[in-house]
Amino acid sequence: MKSLFLSLCFWCVCLHGIETDFDCVVVGTSPFSLFEAIYKRSLGNRVAIVEQGAECGGAWKSITICGVPHVDLGCHEFGRDERLIKFLEEYAGCKIVGTASDLQKTLTTDFYPSQGCYELTHNLERLMQSLGVTILLNSKVESVFIDTTRELAEVKINDVRYTTRKLVLTNNSEINFENPQAQNPTHRAHTYYHIGILIEDPTPPRFTYKNFHHNGASRSTNYTPYSKELQGTGKQLITFQVNGEKNLGNAEIYFEELKKQGLLDSQAKLLQVDNYIYKQTPLSQGTIHKMGEPARAMIEVINSGNISYLVNHIDKWKQAMKPFNQIVSPDLSRAAG
Ligand SMILES: Cc1cc2nc3c(=O)[nH]c(=O)nc-3n(C[C@H](O)[C@H](O)[C@H](O)COP(=O)(O)OP(=O)(O)OC[C@H]3O[C@@H](n4cnc5c(N)ncnc54)[C@H](O)[C@@H]3O)c2cc1C
Repeated sequence: MKSLFLSLCFWCVCLHGIETDFDCVVVGTSPFSLFEAIYKRSLGNRVAIVEQGAECGGAWKSITICGVPHVDLGCHEFGRDERLIKFLEEYAGCKIVGTASDLQKTLTTDFYPSQGCYELTHNLERLMQSLGVTILLNSKVESVFIDTTRELAEVKINDVRYTTRKLVLTNNSEINFENPQAQNPTHRAHTYYHIGILIEDPTPPRFTYKNFHHNGASRSTNYTPYSKELQGTGKQLITFQVNGEKNLGNAEIYFEELKKQGLLDSQAKLLQVDNYIYKQTPLSQGTIHKMGEPARAMIEVINSGNISYLVNHIDKWKQAMKPFNQIVSPDLSRAAG
């Protein structure tokens, strides 16, 4: 009886290949990873997306700054590509606005989701939940073994080994391969420093995103128009990206400079200051290359260098994805106004 069962198993494996836990494992949760996970799931694959942090979004995730929730981690720009605007509206359910002071969407201004990046990542998370993508947060991919004999990858997460046919990475997936020929380099993180300031200024916000080269700062975002929490409070939230830790103490200098440039009211008062730091560890593409063709065939690397590169995938994604409103019902808790 036992030998009959074993030979049945043997023939099942021969006919269908070795069963894996997932068809695809996506490492990281930037918009590139989120869309790719949704696309692969829409094709019918069993998809897991893995994030070492507590929230989705990567460099585009939202955090609480100066007590204000859902604020973008960085000072971001999306550009003004009309195809990307339409895609984000239709397939991510975002209400898109312009970044000009009147926030009207026109082709001559850059665009932004009306509630910042929270609107984008939150909607994509809801899509993944509706479609049945397995989302593993607070879960670091510790290492990966590419088993070319069995044509699968073993992905070690929290000491559990999951098997998958395909590993999907981006430019900043930090991966250690267990394969002896891989020669993993020492990973070196790039660190990005930010300051947030909460201001009392009841006059309308005078900018959204701007290059702000002053005393070690490089750019600045007035986040007030994107924040439901700030509306009608007479307060404004402004963030700065600064070069290096040494400039994290310059909040008052930047505040005074904004007043000097007429970007805040002369009577504005500085209420609160916060710092936040983001680290990115670049993927070593050379390591993957050295593992040879059979291993490379199991790894997909998305070029995620600039958010505008999302456009390169739109045609492919649209072949399988359905419009947002056909999958997800309206989010009454934070419906766009
Ligand atoms: C502060 C900042 C501002 C930026 N602003 C802009 C901008 O305005 N416009 C623009 O075009 N580009 C901008 N970029 C570039 C940005 O890197 C890309 O837009 C895009 O986010 C890159 O996507 P990514 O997936 O490669 O990396 P990330 O967005 O950094 O996402 C990587 C994610 O993978 C997770 N991760 C990595 N390794 C593992 C692991 N082993 N296990 C589990 N999780 C893992 C990380 O925790 C992270 O969440 C900015 C980058 C930074 C850091």
